[in-house]
Amino acid sequence: MTNKQLSAGDHITSKCTKCKDTTNHTIVAMVGETVARVECNTCGGIHNYRNVVTKKTTTRSKTSSTRPAKTSRIEAEWENLLAEVNPADATPYNIQMSIKNGDLIQHPSFGLGRVINTIKPNKMEVVFSTGTKLLRCSVA
Ligand SMILES: [Zn+2]
Repeated sequence: MTNKQLSAGDHITSKCTKCKDTTNHTIVAMVGETVARVECNTCGGIHNYRNVVTKKTTTRSKTSSTRPAKTSRIEAEWENLLAEVNPADATPYNIQMSIKNGDLIQHPSFGLGRVINTIKPNKMEVVFSTGTKLLRCSVA
């Protein structure tokens, strides 16, 4: 990799403290082969040249979140629902049960659940710790 020989009047990108950004600059003064002072093309400020620190961007970090967000969302929803109910109020689930929104049920397989929606004549949406299930019931 060969560095292009820079000289006063050339354009270079530098960090500008006034713009608080990396902007295009014109080289004002050189010290040997090193850029000494630059003029910001955006704000016109003249300052010492600051080499733009190229961060080693770890693009890998994007894929590192392998934890499915869906699960945590359900868990959060579940905890919200449980926070405002008393598990002792749960009614054991049976297919004939008469249900309304907000009721708590105890399901033999899914455990404690809260009715979030009823669909006439005989379906209900229940949130369990594992997610939402559609169950048979008798809608009041
Ligand atoms: Zn500037």
